[in-house]
Amino acid sequence: MPALEHRTALVTGGASGIGRAIAEAYLREGAEVVLADLDASAAAASIGAAGHVAVDVSDPGSVASAVSTVMDRFGRIDVLVNSAGILTEAPLVEMDPRVWAETIAVDLTGVFLCCRYVVPHMVSRRWGRVVNIASQLGIKGGRSLSHYSAAKAGVIGLTKSLALEVAEHNVLVNAIAPGPVETPMVAGITDEWKAAKRAELPLGRFGRPEEIAPTAVLLASDPGGNLYVGQTLGPNSGDVMP
Ligand code: NAD
Repeated sequence: MPALEHRTALVTGGASGIGRAIAEAYLREGAEVVLADLDASAAAASIGAAGHVAVDVSDPGSVASAVSTVMDRFGRIDVLVNSAGILTEAPLVEMDPRVWAETIAVDLTGVFLCCRYVVPHMVSRRWGRVVNIASQLGIKGGRSLSHYSAAKAGVIGLTKSLALEVAEHNVLVNAIAPGPVETPMVAGITDEWKAAKRAELPLGRFGRPEEIAPTAVLLASDPGGNLYVGQTLGPNSGDVMP
């Protein structure tokens, strides 16, 4: 039996990169998938998602309205994947405070807001899985990436704390902390940074979005969610999986 049959999944950042690869994997596992992104209409049509909703994850009103639209149409959200995110490079001592604020707003507050409006529906149904996409940078830090690293460290702290709050309701919360992955997000990063990163990686290359997706399937499933409550898994990072 497919791992996610009869499950409805909402995937933020589902129009591109890791979110899109996870959405495609969930579809293969029998889930009904709804993409949530700034504009997910083309991606939803291209992968055969059940629906899409426009959302700015950094805006409380936008998230509340998107979640209510999905609940009205599908009646449930069993799985929430928080993959929407942005990344820019800037040394902290030169950083425009607006760059800091925007990164925290999308990459950390966005995860809070989506959990804030979706998890109560999971609690009331007594089943849910939340999969947050953190980053190795949230564990190790990164040069010129203090804003992004701080946001991702925040996502890991949020994940572990929310897992403690809602596990008793059978709502299980985990994070994945990938190393660098070849997606549009890293297209603008300097070649020097990419070369230095490649040299650190056990495989000597960046990951691919489809290599992250199986972990997200596991964490959305019954046995996977039960095995790893409040954990952060780190594929292609060189770290030992917990
Ligand atoms: P991507 O740029 O391909 O996809 C990110 C998606 O998020 C895009 O579709 C974009 O439209 C959407 N998005 C951005 N701001 C948004 C907002 N305010 N509201 C709604 N949607 C918004 O990037 P990706 O590499 O697939 O990144 C997905 C997640 O994985 C991000 O959280 C990222 O931080 C994380 N991550 C990426 C890497 C990497 O190397 N690519 C490594 C570790 C973690």
